[in-house]
Amino acid sequence: MSKNRMEAYLFCVNCEKDTPHEVEYKAGQIHKITCKTCEISLQINQEFVNKHFKEEFTKRVLSKPIRMTEEMEADLSGFLKSLPIRVISKPYRVYKEYTDKIKE
Ligand SMILES: [Zn+2]
Repeated sequence: MSKNRMEAYLFCVNCEKDTPHEVEYKAGQIHKITCKTCEISLQINQEFVNKHFKEEFTKRVLSKPIRMTEEMEADLSGFLKSLPIRVISKPYRVYKEYTDKIKE
């Protein structure tokens, strides 16, 4: 599995404004997004995303880009804003459920 990091200027649901974020990719998909200002970390549950967002959207926004463009940053910010708050408030639990499934 390849793991990569990228920096992006995204909307933080905790800071409630655009802040620098670290975007972590794993296996070609966004795995974790961390706000560098407040250090809140959001684990991306691919299953949830696949269920609730259109495939085309997740491919464009969550798959590993060659480089982060302004357009992508805008898309990602929109994605973060569109996530239901219960997913964001329990990132660890969501992540654990997801990784437990992978291990099986
Ligand atoms: Zn923040």
